[in-house]
Amino acid sequence: MDFDLTKELRDIQKAAREFAKGEFDPDAVLEYDQNQEFPSTIWKKACELGFVGMHLPEEHGGQGLGLLENVLITEEFCRQDSGMGIALALSDFGSEIILRHGNENQKTRILPLITGGETVFTIAFLEESYSLSPMASTARIDKNGYVISGKKEFVTLGSLAKHMIVVCQTRLDDPLAQSVLLVERDAEGVEVSSMGEKVGMRMIPSDNVSFTGVIVPQENRIGEEDRGYYHLKEFFNEMRVETGAMGVGIAQGGLDRALEYSKTREQFGKPIANFDAIRNKLADMYADVEMARLIAYKAALSLDNGRTENGAILMSKMIASKTAYRVTNDALQIYGGLGYMKEGHIERFYRDARVLELFLEPAQIQRNMLADHIIGKKT
Ligand SMILES: Cc1cc2nc3c(=O)[nH]c(=O)nc-3n(C[C@H](O)[C@H](O)[C@H](O)COP(=O)(O)OP(=O)(O)OC[C@H]3O[C@@H](n4cnc5c(N)ncnc54)[C@H](O)[C@@H]3O)c2cc1C
Repeated sequence: MDFDLTKELRDIQKAAREFAKGEFDPDAVLEYDQNQEFPSTIWKKACELGFVGMHLPEEHGGQGLGLLENVLITEEFCRQDSGMGIALALSDFGSEIILRHGNENQKTRILPLITGGETVFTIAFLEESYSLSPMASTARIDKNGYVISGKKEFVTLGSLAKHMIVVCQTRLDDPLAQSVLLVERDAEGVEVSSMGEKVGMRMIPSDNVSFTGVIVPQENRIGEEDRGYYHLKEFFNEMRVETGAMGVGIAQGGLDRALEYSKTREQFGKPIANFDAIRNKLADMYADVEMARLIAYKAALSLDNGRTENGAILMSKMIASKTAYRVTNDALQIYGGLGYMKEGHIERFYRDARVLELFLEPAQIQRNMLADHIIGKKT
């Protein structure tokens, strides 16, 4: 057992850190955040340098690496800037399902577009009711292929992705009989509209997408017919760990800034880092970030090694989301009044941290799942 990263992993971490330091200019970042704009130029550079889709195979433009490598990159990007880090981490949202379940033709068609920076990618699954089974969106087979009808919400990057995968109910007699279908955003019957302004995660749009009799050929089904629910469950595991990495990075970014500020800001004739109330906060923040990081790496490694450690995977998102919120809240407090101002560059971390307990699945539901896991209840 070894808690140290290997040299290769440290090199990847360093490369991501240097890229983020060089490219994420704080004033430019503030503008992207205020304008709710996706950082296309920086994303394209990140694609060119291989930071997006690193886990995808080399023949499809990736580097054939694992989730742990992705976690390290996401962590470093979010550490440098929360909004930018989240935007880049989610720019290939859902590509794992094509990687795991797509056929060669689908992989060759889609994955190079993602790694080559030609399009962001997304997956649409959430509906008005959070329940994933059954889904109200249906896909029935007719002579032309699948005919999709339904509405999805909170579709990350829905208005920017040229392609999305959509999870639909393919049989009504079994709530778990779902299929994953590849749909082009410009296909007839697809309508995308913005869900409006968000508190955080502002560099990526969250959209409503409706499907009215959208026809997709049968060869656009990713994976097995009626097995989409299970494909989605696997994807959720990867995303829980990725979200954990976002939380670790955002928390570390908040701590870095608070630490630096507390050493330079003087009150009553000395740096505020000398006051016990601040020192205790910093110590708690440091310990929390370290714990969140360990569990995120453990969860990533478990998936990379083919052992799905459900407890660690659930905890990686749960602990890191909570940590990110608590640590950025404390960081904002350490900054005092400046912390509440945009120019302090800490309130953005606080706003972005807040979404992590909602994104993908709410914290309460995750706790219920963890409880099921430790009690031994089958889900
Ligand atoms: C910025 C943002 C981006 C998002 N991006 C995506 C995305 O890309 N893809 C996607 O599909 N979804 C996305 N989501 C949606 C997110 O997954 C949902 O908001 C979340 O799952 C909660 O669902 P809901 O909003 O319908 O809340 P509800 O299900 O109505 O829940 C309301 C409250 O009740 C609690 N609650 C609900 N059920 C239970 C229960 N059984 N036990 C205990 N408490 C419960 C919830 O925790 C919550 O506090 C995003 C959300 C946000 C805010």
